[in-house]
Amino acid sequence: MSTTRRRLLQGGAALGVAAAIPVGQHVAWGGKDFARADYNPDYPAPPEGEESWMNWSGIQRATPRTIAAPETEEALIDLISSTQSSLRPKGSGHSFTGLVPSEDTIVDLANLSGLKAIDSETGLARFGAGTVLFQAAGALDDHGRAFPNLPDIADQTLAGSCSTATHGTGARLPAMHAQIEAFRLVTASGEVRNVSAASDGDLFAAGKVSLGALGIITEYTLATVPAYNLHRLVAAEPLQQVFDSAEARADENRNFEAYYLPGTGVAATITHNIHDGEITGRPPSEDDELLLGLKDLRDSFGWWPWLRRKIAGAALPGGTVEDVSDASWRLLSTTRPIRFNEMEYHLPRAEGIAALRKVTTMMDRRKQVFFPMEIRFTAPDDAWLSPFNDGPRISIAIHAAVDEPYEYFFSEFEPVFRAHGGRPHWGKLHSLGHDELTGLYPEFESFRELRRSLDPDGRLLNPHLAELFGEAERA
Ligand SMILES: Cc1cc2nc3c(=O)[nH]c(=O)nc-3n(C[C@H](O)[C@H](O)[C@H](O)COP(=O)(O)OP(=O)(O)OC[C@H]3O[C@@H](n4cnc5c(N)ncnc54)[C@H](O)[C@@H]3O)c2cc1C
Repeated sequence: MSTTRRRLLQGGAALGVAAAIPVGQHVAWGGKDFARADYNPDYPAPPEGEESWMNWSGIQRATPRTIAAPETEEALIDLISSTQSSLRPKGSGHSFTGLVPSEDTIVDLANLSGLKAIDSETGLARFGAGTVLFQAAGALDDHGRAFPNLPDIADQTLAGSCSTATHGTGARLPAMHAQIEAFRLVTASGEVRNVSAASDGDLFAAGKVSLGALGIITEYTLATVPAYNLHRLVAAEPLQQVFDSAEARADENRNFEAYYLPGTGVAATITHNIHDGEITGRPPSEDDELLLGLKDLRDSFGWWPWLRRKIAGAALPGGTVEDVSDASWRLLSTTRPIRFNEMEYHLPRAEGIAALRKVTTMMDRRKQVFFPMEIRFTAPDDAWLSPFNDGPRISIAIHAAVDEPYEYFFSEFEPVFRAHGGRPHWGKLHSLGHDELTGLYPEFESFRELRRSLDPDGRLLNPHLAELFGEAERA
C-alpha cells in the first residue's frame, strides 16, 4: 500500500480525533452502502445470434444485431451499400453519452488503423481513423514527431477523440481535432469524400467534430510537431491558492491543470513545460492509491466534514510531490484503471473560476463524493460543433465512482455549468437536446442541414443523436 493511502487511513487514528465521534454515528456511516441499486458491471446478455456492447463505464449498453469490423475501406463501402441497416461507428467506447449504442449495426474501425504515411518535410501524418492515440503517438515518436497535446488517457481512437472534441489542457493549445488537415468520409450512401478546407470548407468545418453523424471516417491527415520532452511538476496545494493563481499559471505554463480532492480543501496541480536536458523518466503512478485513500477517508470519516478535512490536511503530502521529465506523450497521458462516470462542461474563461468556486463548495457539501474534480484550459478553434469555437474555455469535470450514484450531476451541477455559459463535452454526461444546443452553437442548424443532406434516411441516427438533432421521428 502506498504511503499516501496508508497515511490517509492512519491519519484519523494518529490525530486521535476518531474518539471524539459518537460510536453509533460512526457505525451508521461506516456501514453505509454507497453503491447505486442499478449498477451492473456485466455486459448485457444478447438474444441468440446477436452481440453485446457496452461503454467503458457500463452505463451505455446495446445488443446489436451485429458488430461489423471491415478489414478495408472497400469492405466498409460494401457493408454500407449492401444493406439498409442503421449504422453507428464506434471507437474505443470511452464516451459516457449514448453516441454509439445501436440495436442494428455497430461498425468497429479497429482494422482501419496505423500510420499510413508521414511527410518528413511538412510533418503531415496520414493515419487510419481507428488508430488508438497511444499507438499514433508512439508511431509519430519513431519518426521524430509528436502531437502538440494529448488528453488524460490515450486509449481512445483518433476518430473517437476528434469526433467529440477531446482535449488535453493548455491555454494556448487547442483540442485534438484542430490538428486535422484532411479526412476521408464514407457517407450513408457509400460515397467516399476526400475532405479538406480547400475541397469543401463547410464539410471540413462540420466533419472535424461530427459525433459520427455525417458518415464514417476512414482516414485522417494530421499536422504534427517535432518530438519534444516535458518537465512535469505535481504539487499539493490549498484550494484557495489554486483559485487565486489558476488563470495566471495557465498563461505562464505550457500545460496547467488542477484536481480538487473533495472534502479535503486540497488540490493537486500539474504543470508541464518544455524540457531540454536529460530526462528522468517517470516511475509508476500512485494516482490510484491516492484515489483509494480518498475513498477510505470518505468511508470512515465522510459524515464529519471538519474531521475529514483535518485528517486530509495532516496526512496528505504538501508542496511538490512529483518532479520528472520524459517524452511528451509519455507524460501527458496516463492510465485510469479505476472506473468512473463523468460530466464535463466547458465554460468561457471569464466564467470559469467563479463557477469553480461554486461547484467545489457544492461538492464539499455532498459528503459521499470522493472522486477528484478536474480543471483544464483549452484554446479556441473553428469547427462548427467544437465547444471551443467562440473563444478560450475552462473545463470543469466531475466524476463519480463507477458503481455510485451520479444523478446529482444533472440535478445540481449541470444547472450551474449552464448558468455560467457552459457547453457540454459531447462524450460526457449531459442532458441537452436540440433546442438547447441550437442556442449554444451558431452553426448547429447548418450542421443539422448538412447531416440531413448526407444521410436523408437517418441511417446514422440512434435515439441519442435523434435527441441532439431534433430528429425523433426518423430514429
Ligand atoms: C478514462 C477516460 C478518460 C478520458 N479523458 C478525456 C480527456 O482527457 N479529455 C477529453 O476531452 N475527453 C476525455 N475522455 C472522453 C473521450 O475522449 C471521448 O468520449 C472520446 O470520444 C472517446 O473516444 P473513443 O475512441 O472511445 O470513441 P467512442 O466513444 O467509441 O465514440 C465517440 C464518437 O466517435 C464516433 N466515431 C468513432 N469512430 C468513428 C469513425 N471512424 N467515423 C466517424 N465517427 C466515429 C462515434 O460514433 C461516437 O459518436 C475520457 C474518457 C474516459 C473513459
